[in-house]
Amino acid sequence: MSGQRKCPDCGSSEIVEDSHYAQNQLVCADCGFILTEGLLTTTYTDEEHLQAVTYSRSTGQNEQLSRCVLRGIGRVRDLCKVLHLPSLFEDTAVAYYQQAIKRPFFRLVSLEKKEILVGCCVFVTCRQHNWPLTMGSICLLLYAEKELFAKTYLSFLKELELDVPALSLIDLVKTHLGSFKLFPNSSSVPSKFVEDKEKLVARTIQVVELASETWLVTGRHPIPIVTAAAYLAWQSLCPAGRLTCTLSQFCKLAGTDLPPPAPQRLKELHNILLRMASELSWLRVLKVNKKSVAKHMADILQHRRLLLQTAFRTGDFVGDDSVGDSAAAPLQPGDRDTEGTSLPGEKRKCSSERPPLLPPCLLNPRKKLRATVSCSELSVTGDEPILDSEIEQYLRTPEEKETFSKAQACLRC
Ligand SMILES: [Zn+2]
Repeated sequence: MSGQRKCPDCGSSEIVEDSHYAQNQLVCADCGFILTEGLLTTTYTDEEHLQAVTYSRSTGQNEQLSRCVLRGIGRVRDLCKVLHLPSLFEDTAVAYYQQAIKRPFFRLVSLEKKEILVGCCVFVTCRQHNWPLTMGSICLLLYAEKELFAKTYLSFLKELELDVPALSLIDLVKTHLGSFKLFPNSSSVPSKFVEDKEKLVARTIQVVELASETWLVTGRHPIPIVTAAAYLAWQSLCPAGRLTCTLSQFCKLAGTDLPPPAPQRLKELHNILLRMASELSWLRVLKVNKKSVAKHMADILQHRRLLLQTAFRTGDFVGDDSVGDSAAAPLQPGDRDTEGTSLPGEKRKCSSERPPLLPPCLLNPRKKLRATVSCSELSVTGDEPILDSEIEQYLRTPEEKETFSKAQACLRC
């Protein structure tokens, strides 16, 4: 056989394939001489047919990481260290980075996007461990545009088929309030404004939970809600002297930014609280308004579930109403009312008096609800004749042509 090889060193024909540092080599079984050193062939068959195998196709190259990838991994580790994340996170994030960078989608993207990819890996890891890191913080650290980050993040999730839990609001409250300068150790705040951190966090969590139950959180940025909730909680813990303090003054005191949607969230929270307060007879007598409602927060939060049930038509009723049309035997609204929220001994109000519990975007729609397509539009088949006069109105007349060319000439000089 012409392909039969002999060891150039000892003349033995016992040539075997041996894997040497993950690269298959032809080795003499008798003396150990490596026949294929420097010849980049992967298998014995390749060697026999003397096929040239490119370096990148040989196994060694695939296992080696390019400089760019190594740099990315280093960046992932750096970012985790800067954020003081547990070491377990670091390895997960690196694993995500290695997975992502192998995808053709990410291999050829710009350096800027590769830098953002570093952030995506860390961000996803944090989300999966309920670590309250916001996209805003990551963007700040990477000097990345938020839009580009969001776009890259979405394609990252799609490429890696990752399922990411929503941000844990409670953890976010804890970390966000941690940066406030309202606690005993801060000297710059007047003593009547100083609050115990544990108490403020606990109360804020309650308010945020209330906001979540009343559809103020879904689809919104969480930080403005946390800010508004913290403000209300802070007011309620010591109303004397704090009720006159505005949201922007509060943020200035706490040394935190006032995110633009926060006043709107505060207004929505006030509406909910006032609605709930009107269900408590002793508060109805006091005629609470949005300025004083924070004073009664403890009462309202204590009876939160009951007040929500009595103040609003809850989700069940809304659902029933819409199903009611098709249901075979719709129940009377009155029946529903009593069985849904059974309050012994209390006179029930008719359900129509109570506003439904809905997200603000449905209660005050900014845009007109999409008009239903008219029947005549639906019956158009697309085979109707097209008249010449109909087409001609899209063509320029000679006068229009002349005016247009004159205008162009004017622009040129
Ligand atoms: Zn040999």
